[in-house]
Amino acid sequence: MSICAKSKIFVLVGSPGSGKGSFSEFCIKNFGWSQLSTGNLCRKHVSNNTEIGKHIDFVLKSGKLVSDNIIFDMVREWLIEQINLGKSILLDGFPRNLVQAEALNSLLNEEAFRNICLFVVKFVVSDDIVIDRLCGRLVCKNKNCQAIYSSAKGSLSRPKNDMICDKCLKELEVRADDNIETIKERLKVYHEHEASLLDFYTKKEKNIIELDASMPIKNIFCSFEEAINLMGLDS
Ligand SMILES: [Zn+2]
Repeated sequence: MSICAKSKIFVLVGSPGSGKGSFSEFCIKNFGWSQLSTGNLCRKHVSNNTEIGKHIDFVLKSGKLVSDNIIFDMVREWLIEQINLGKSILLDGFPRNLVQAEALNSLLNEEAFRNICLFVVKFVVSDDIVIDRLCGRLVCKNKNCQAIYSSAKGSLSRPKNDMICDKCLKELEVRADDNIETIKERLKVYHEHEASLLDFYTKKEKNIIELDASMPIKNIFCSFEEAINLMGLDS
């Protein structure tokens, strides 16, 4: 039985290194879901020379930031496209704060979005585990690959050969911003926004699915499927 045959939007909430990226990859690969990337959307509009693209190009060339309004116009158009394709949608890193969450909420109240169910997926993991993970993170130097590995002992995502990418055989590197002080600062900023986001969605009585993100990705996904099944949703 399915209580929600509608398109679904999953807002992923979790600190950097909590596994949201691997989770998204898994869903895209196995279910053909779509993930919003505002960066990619901007680039697509610019290369297709759309009206929005021309504006973005102008703003970026004058060294300014693309305004929230333009981002929302783009996101809105993209969401409608995906919904028409019958796709479920993953939002990672958006909404990033309360202002964006409120804007997304009023967007979803529009007629075009009446068939949408929104879920919040919370990745619960301690900062200590995240710090361990991010400090041991290795990224492929190949810009077209950017596969991520972990140098941590016993990790399932260790590269087969030290410092060599399994996928493209190029060299791996530790990212400059993966040092402990930077990571702690990123976590601090993240937690400030997370609290207000979760508070917002709790008040709106949105379905919040909590996942134990200290587990390997396979287990995280099993718990996610269980939660979805419990709600009577088909993934
Ligand atoms: Zn690679």
